[in-house]
Amino acid sequence: MASHTLSPLPYAFDALEPHIDALTMEIHHDRHHQAYVNNLNTALKDSPELAELSVNALIADLANVPDAIRGAVRNNGGGHANHDLFWDVLTPGGANEPSGDLLAAITAAFGSVDALKAAMSEAGVKRFGSGWSWLISAADGTLSVASTANQDSPVMGAAVAGCAGTPLLGIDVWEHAYYLKYQNKRPDYLSAIWTVVNWDKVAERYANR
Ligand code: MN
Repeated sequence: MASHTLSPLPYAFDALEPHIDALTMEIHHDRHHQAYVNNLNTALKDSPELAELSVNALIADLANVPDAIRGAVRNNGGGHANHDLFWDVLTPGGANEPSGDLLAAITAAFGSVDALKAAMSEAGVKRFGSGWSWLISAADGTLSVASTANQDSPVMGAAVAGCAGTPLLGIDVWEHAYYLKYQNKRPDYLSAIWTVVNWDKVAERYANR
């Protein structure tokens, strides 16, 4: 039976300093993300056919997951997929601002890159408790912003109301993502994180949607 594994962080823990501190990155990746992977494998231990699926295929069809483990798969499969995306769309390297087709789509949907950033930050600030703020592409390339609770993902489609599509950029607004450095000041974290977004990766996801 296949099991899900945690990929190494694709850069050093301190690569996003001073905007995201090294200790936060280490705990976030090595403990929180690892726990989602471990708990997902535990949930799937008696479901070999489901365990063969990629995590995105698994969470895209939660209706196919037995009742007894659906909640665990939703939370931990979502957690695994969401964090894989999160590490991927942060720096180092890559463009500091969007360009090309992605910039055109952002301008069409929001008016400007600043307006997109404001919309995503607002969605993250307003998320009560834990969750994510997302930039999502519909199949036709139309962009939108939405927020999800807990580890829900736009990949879950019909299981998550009003939020289906391909996630291009996700911002983790769980306290574990920012509390050591920013404490209760989630808006400050949401303002700082734009400095460390890798727009080349977001553009890659847009091209491959
Ligand atoms: Mn997280």
